[in-house]
Amino acid sequence: MFNAILLNKNEDGSTRAELTQLDDAQLPADGDVTVAVEYSTINYKDGLAITGKSPVVRKWPMVPGIDGAGEVIASSHPSWKAGDRVVLNGWGVGEVHMGCLAGRAKLKGDWLIPLPHDMSTRTAMAIGTAGYTAMLCAMALAECGVKPEHGEVLVTGASGGVGSVAVAILAARGYKVVASTGKLAEADYLTSLGAAEVIDRAELSAPGKPLQKERWAGVVDSVGSHTLVNAIAQCRYGATVAACGLAQGMDFPATVAPFILRGVKLIGVDSVMAPRERRLDAWSNLASELKPHTLEKITREITLAEALDWAPKILAGGVKGRLVVNVRA
Ligand code: NDP
Repeated sequence: MFNAILLNKNEDGSTRAELTQLDDAQLPADGDVTVAVEYSTINYKDGLAITGKSPVVRKWPMVPGIDGAGEVIASSHPSWKAGDRVVLNGWGVGEVHMGCLAGRAKLKGDWLIPLPHDMSTRTAMAIGTAGYTAMLCAMALAECGVKPEHGEVLVTGASGGVGSVAVAILAARGYKVVASTGKLAEADYLTSLGAAEVIDRAELSAPGKPLQKERWAGVVDSVGSHTLVNAIAQCRYGATVAACGLAQGMDFPATVAPFILRGVKLIGVDSVMAPRERRLDAWSNLASELKPHTLEKITREITLAEALDWAPKILAGGVKGRLVVNVRA
């Protein structure tokens, strides 16, 4: 038996989340690698799954947890054997396939990547999907030619998981990072991660003009809605915006003006179905660029039981940095 968070659907359609015990027979039959999970995380999407605020879970009952890191204990997949240290991000795990907020997970070997050399499972989960997505965004900016000498880059939702890691990565790469946050009291936290300036997210969150004063050479946006639209409207000629989130909203009330008059590029970033090669590149960059002491500033460790309480808080924008779940605690 192992501890797990289990989600069930009530008759009225609401979600019931509980800490319980499962055994191996309850794990999905279509997995070919059984992993002893050591650490998982709470991402925004896990908050949606556990609270039922959005129809993230499409199969019931479900173990949530889109991220996990641990050790292989059994495998019929040719790439993996008992004792291998692995990381899992996305692929519908925690949504349609039982996830990693549990002591064990039965996963498909094709989804797993090796835990980077010299990285602990706790560090991998301090990064998690949020940090890996932040790296995908940073890679998108670089691939579109955004260089530190081109000017300031904006990170929205800066105190959140994606935002915190994006600030740290971009600052370490030499960019002048401007962090947009609703938590101005956390300005010191953001400057300690490398932000050169912290701005109030209220400057970006209301409807604005289609073209505004040019400021950003690049943007990493985890917020969507008016914030994304205003950030685009403030882009310099030829700037690139990497859009990955919807913390403010899924809407996109924009005009084409910044695209056709300033050549702004809008790049969508998805981590869930990203191909394996892209993941390996992102994790290799994360392993070499993110310093352990920076990650420690970002990370709060919680237990499986505490994960239930933190799920609504992350949806309310109340989490600073990353929540790492010690599944064995
Ligand atoms: P967090 O909750 O950790 O961070 C989101 C941050 O957005 C908050 O901390 C807050 O930062 C800001 N925010 C919250 N509500 C609002 C609002 N109403 N208006 C403006 N800003 C707001 O979540 P994550 O970092 O884990 O995820 C961020 C987003 O990215 C989510 O929408 C998530 O679904 C998405 N995502 C997408 C992925 C992909 O593959 N495309 C992968 C991972 C995440 P502050 O207080 O500093 O303003």
